This record gives sequence, C-alpha cells and structure tokens, in this order.
Amino acid sequence: MQLASSIRYGGIFVKAADCDYEAYRNLGLICPNCHESVFLVQQHDRHYTKTTKVTSVAAHFNHRPDKSTDAMQECELRVKQITPAEIERRENASRSQRLRLFNRHLWNILQTCYKLKTFDESVILLKSGFKLVAENPNQAQAIFQVYIELLTTIFVNEVPRIHDESEYCVERLIKKTEKEQLVKNESLQFLLAVWRQKIDKKMHIAIYNEVVDCLVQKKHLLILQNLATLGLYNFVCITAICKEKQLPINERLTAYNSLHSQTTNINELVICEVFSNLVDVFCSNNKQAMEAIAAFVRDDVLETIAFTPWAEGFEKFSG
Ligand SMILES: [Zn+2]
Repeated sequence: MQLASSIRYGGIFVKAADCDYEAYRNLGLICPNCHESVFLVQQHDRHYTKTTKVTSVAAHFNHRPDKSTDAMQECELRVKQITPAEIERRENASRSQRLRLFNRHLWNILQTCYKLKTFDESVILLKSGFKLVAENPNQAQAIFQVYIELLTTIFVNEVPRIHDESEYCVERLIKKTEKEQLVKNESLQFLLAVWRQKIDKKMHIAIYNEVVDCLVQKKHLLILQNLATLGLYNFVCITAICKEKQLPINERLTAYNSLHSQTTNINELVICEVFSNLVDVFCSNNKQAMEAIAAFVRDDVLETIAFTPWAEGFEKFSG
C-alpha cells in the first residue's frame, strides 16, 4: 500500500514514495487500518528469470509476512479509500497538537537545547557588564531592557525572511554539529550524533517554522526576549575573545569554540571595552553596527530554535 501513518508525528500520513529508509526508521510507521507496524519496500526493478522482462516496482509499505492474506487485502482496500482531504485533515490535526504543546511548554522544550542550560548566569553577567559602563544602576537596567526589546523587534520584523531561509538554516546547523572541533564536549558530540540519525528533514523544517511563528506571538514574547538575551551574551563573549586573542571577526567560529570549551578567561578590561562599545552603538544610533549585532543575535536564536524538533518526541512536556 502507498500510505502509512506516523506514530511519532501525531498520526500523519506518509507516502511510500516520499520515504527513504532513514525516515522510515524514525517515523514509527504503522498501517492506518489495523495499526500494526509496516515496513518500507523502496522503488526497485523486478527482473523475471524466464524472460528478460524488467518491470519497475513503485515504493510501497508491506505488512509483516505472517499476517493473513484476507486481513492484508482488507487493509489495502481501506488505505486506498483515504482521500487527499483526509490526509490534509491529519496534517492539520498533527500541527495543532504540536501547537498546543508549544503553547504550554515552549520554554521547557527550548531548554533541551544545551545552550539554555546557563541562561540565569548569562543574564547576571550581562546585567553586571552594563553596570560596569553605565553611569548608575538604573541607567544600566534601562539600557539592558531597551537593548533586548530592540533586538526582539528586529527579529519579529525579519520573520518572512526567516521562513524563506529555513531550509538553509536547518542544513547549516546539522553540518555545524558534525564538526568535532566545534563541539568539544564528548557527551554532547554523542547526543548530536544520535539526533542527526533521527532527523526527518522535511518535518524538521516544518516544526522549525512552527516554533518561529509561535515565538513571535505576543504571549511568547518574553521567551523570545530570553533567547535574544542569550544571543547578546554570546555576542559579548565572542567579541571579547576575538579582541583578546586578536582574532579577525571572521574567526568567530574559533572564538565560539573556545567559549564552549570553557578554557577562556577574558580580561575584565576587554569585557569593559566590549560593553562600552555596545552602549556607544546604541546611544549613537549607529545603524550599521546595530544591524550587525542584531544579525548575530538572530542567527544565534535561530540555531536554538533549530534544535527544538529534536526535543525528545515532545512527550515528556505533555504531562
Ligand atoms: Zn493493516
């Protein structure tokens, strides 16, 4: 039969023609009629031994061989009757199921991404950095607040472009996680390798876009602000590392690497310089510099979002 139903993604229908072995393993595919697991037979040529005839067999799903022929024919018949409208209805149902989950547990889901583990410390360090260069604590708090709000607004305005570039962004993240020099932590390397095996790219990109849409809703703006805060923190650290080690700005990857391997002790004077530059950019209304900061923060936030489809099946957030 041509269709199977994915347990992992809320019962959506998957076409055999759209499925490869890797996707097949990860989707948890069952027969839409009897709910028993099915296996994928990919498109292949059938050679006949008596004649030299060759026919092409389309990709399809098969039941386990021990299932009775009558029952299998019953399933074939039922599955053939599934209409395009029913396929679409399932897709919508699966999307709204995820949306409900995002609405309730988005922050927890995002936290499964390793970058958010140190969120609280990052906020404290960021606030104290602004205090170092501001005239008084009130001014520091005001600058911090306005900065984050501005970065958030810029992000929200870029949503159409973010959607256009979603496939590229997800692919870039996957490539990046393969670089061992970037991910020095061995247990994280292992985790990422497992995640990469579990990827169903089409679904991954769809979920990524759904999370973006969810985040820019008014009720989730605080979460988006938190992500922007973390992005700004990373910007400060990486800029400081580049300054301290006199790396050109295109060596950000190296700086990022040393940030996450936690071997860098940055001189306080350098940190101070970075923060005073941040305040200058903001106060002088330097558009070009502000855009560069916003672009860094946007990419950092998007990288976090690109991890969310891997959040373990989402089940643990549904309690
Ligand atoms: Zn069946």
